[in-house]
Amino acid sequence: SQSLADADPALNASIQHELVRQKDQIELIASENIVSRAVLEAQGSVLTNKYAEGYPGRRYYGGCEFVDVTEKLAQDRACELFGATYANVQPHSGAQANQAVFFALMQPGDTFLGMDLACGGHLTHGAPVNQSGKWFKPVGYKVRTQDQLIDYDEVEELANTHKPKLMIGGGSAYSRTIDWARLRKVADSVGSLLMVDMAHYAGLVAGGVYPNPVPHAHVVTTTTHKTLRGPRGGMILSNDPELGKKINSAVFPGLQGGPLMHVIAAKAVAFGEALRPDFKLYAKQVVDNARALADTLMKRGVNIVSGGTDSHLMLVDLRPKGLTGKAVEHHLELAGITCNKNGIPFDNEKPMITSGIRLGTPAGTTRGFGVAEFVQIGNLIGDVLDGLAANGPEGNATVEAEVRAKVKALCDKFPIYA
Ligand code: PLP
Repeated sequence: SQSLADADPALNASIQHELVRQKDQIELIASENIVSRAVLEAQGSVLTNKYAEGYPGRRYYGGCEFVDVTEKLAQDRACELFGATYANVQPHSGAQANQAVFFALMQPGDTFLGMDLACGGHLTHGAPVNQSGKWFKPVGYKVRTQDQLIDYDEVEELANTHKPKLMIGGGSAYSRTIDWARLRKVADSVGSLLMVDMAHYAGLVAGGVYPNPVPHAHVVTTTTHKTLRGPRGGMILSNDPELGKKINSAVFPGLQGGPLMHVIAAKAVAFGEALRPDFKLYAKQVVDNARALADTLMKRGVNIVSGGTDSHLMLVDLRPKGLTGKAVEHHLELAGITCNKNGIPFDNEKPMITSGIRLGTPAGTTRGFGVAEFVQIGNLIGDVLDGLAANGPEGNATVEAEVRAKVKALCDKFPIYA
């Protein structure tokens, strides 16, 4: 049959344009990464043709002997990587992994405790617009105003008051180390189950540079596409076989039909890559780079929420320069640097405006940027911010063009998919 380019030129062009965009811009979105060719190949494989409802050895379709091997490889590698005895690699996304745990462990109307969205939690941890917030009763814990760190005393108080069925640790915009053992202690003291959503930190955990929640939580959910550098998808881990049975039923047939076997194959490839010694170096470099970027930005006159980072990400508080996240996201994009606007804790701006941006180093580190490059990137961002602060909403087009040229040179020096 025909190649994609011959069969569907319009669609193919959109992919080729996206490839060029990825090659020529600096990706600072903290939840993105650049997967290997091997991961791409597995995901683009004939496994997309296969129905395999059920689990390895217990399928509702014939012809599953080879995809059983695929899924077992993914499960075994996930367990080895994170020190778990149970892994469900079928959730189509991080949101669905979380939904499956809710479905397995709670009834509609039950109370749970999670980090407030405005303080770094994820939509699926109880946002009013999300099913977690509509069908369950979320109680949100916050960070402390003085240092923007999780207020564990408040967590304890809220747990005592509300006696949640489930407690959630982890989030999408919290850059510091989280004390999993302390959360478990609180959960145990009120008879709650602890779910950790390590979506953002999974690759750092795999690489040994961020604490592993698996020994502490009853159940751990994650995405596979952020720091872990696999295909887009979700996963659930545990060391409790009884919980594992409930979660298996919640994923299939509770929420999903056929698993995406091509994606599961790509997950297995990524887990295999993360088990290799060089992934430890990658994870350490991600954090070193994030610290270098945060330090450079602080020198250039913005605040970093909580004063720094222990991970791959940081929240930049733009208020010292009188700028909004919306304007900065747009003007950095014009200069070839991609990021997302993000509310900072206790932000007075609306969610579509914000006082902050969220930056992360996983993708840049994958393409080979080290501390020197991230110091340079921090200064390039500083130049765009100063242009905006001095010139008002239009920014400084000359500065942005200069930065864009330097971004292109950096990207050419560290090519992807060459
Ligand atoms: N959990 C956390 C902490 C996340 O940051 C995200 C994604 O941003 C998700 C869950 C949801 O993952 P997905 O986008 O794959 O549904």
